[in-house]
Amino acid sequence: MIAAPFEYYAPESVSEALKLLTTHEDSRVLAGGQSLIPMMKLRLSRPSHLIDLGHIAELNYIAETNGSVRIGAMSTHNQIETSETLRQKCPLLAETAGRIGDVQVRNLGTIGGSLSHADPAADYPAALQALRAQVRLVSAKGDRTISIDQFLVDAFTTALEPGEILYEVIVAADTPGLGSAYLKQQQPASGFAVVGVAAQLEAKGGNIAVARVGITGLSSRSYRAKAVESALEGKAATAATLAAAAKLAAQGEEPLSDVYAGADYRAHVVQVATRRALEAALARAK
Ligand SMILES: Cc1cc2nc3c(=O)[nH]c(=O)nc-3n(C[C@H](O)[C@H](O)[C@H](O)COP(=O)(O)OP(=O)(O)OC[C@H]3O[C@@H](n4cnc5c(N)ncnc54)[C@H](O)[C@@H]3O)c2cc1C
Repeated sequence: MIAAPFEYYAPESVSEALKLLTTHEDSRVLAGGQSLIPMMKLRLSRPSHLIDLGHIAELNYIAETNGSVRIGAMSTHNQIETSETLRQKCPLLAETAGRIGDVQVRNLGTIGGSLSHADPAADYPAALQALRAQVRLVSAKGDRTISIDQFLVDAFTTALEPGEILYEVIVAADTPGLGSAYLKQQQPASGFAVVGVAAQLEAKGGNIAVARVGITGLSSRSYRAKAVESALEGKAATAATLAAAAKLAAQGEEPLSDVYAGADYRAHVVQVATRRALEAALARAK
């Protein structure tokens, strides 16, 4: 399949890209092309102006400052997986990136592209919701920073306004005592999550002091499993506590049903995956 005709632009700065975005009404930014190019080839997306962010060096960095790690939108999954800064300061994100697709997808796909595409089975959203991440969005009018929960609105829908670009993702560097894990049951051909669970725990004096859980793939958008978090915090850090909390993983959600997995199966698997992710996170916290 061949994409509909389009004009191609390769700006070298964010300000140049934003100018192009506001000048050309029917325009789209291109990052790693792992989702957009197939959609263009299938003619599900037909932008007349394509603005390639791949030549903008200022969007590609992973840097720690004042207890936060900032990740430029054009950082690839591979860069995130192998970043020493992230492995030390935010291992949950590095581990999650390493579970995305295959090596070719990880070499080209970017965190900005993945989040902006907002596939309900994408891996990053679960980890970033568990990490309480923020995203910085820029446009010709200025910039704003919002929480990842506000950014992810629904399947394939984000809070990005026309003319806006996702500039960076901001996560807090882990404090000592935190343990985390990302666990997914994956669709064997694509690697996308049937269900993916990101967990971060801290145990103090035999009790769970901090519990953060994000879940992807189960329903139409990833979510923070607040019922699981509340069933853990302040309770004894035992296998029984984790197992009981994991049973609440699908609470309030409407599990999806598709050719890979029915709703009942997803609702069951998410409980198992949550228990295992919590056990792994607690073992690492210790
Ligand atoms: C075979 C295969 C397997 C995959 N398996 C997985 C998997 O297991 N888990 C998973 O999570 N993902 C998976 N993916 C998706 C992959 O992670 C893509 O990298 C991701 O969905 C899109 O990132 P990209 O950089 O390629 O963005 P693109 O395809 O270039 O863009 C995607 C969308 O985001 C917009 N966009 C891109 N960057 C920005 C920005 N900075 N600001 C605003 N808008 C922007 C584009 O305009 C477009 O609408 C898979 C993809 C393939 C092809």
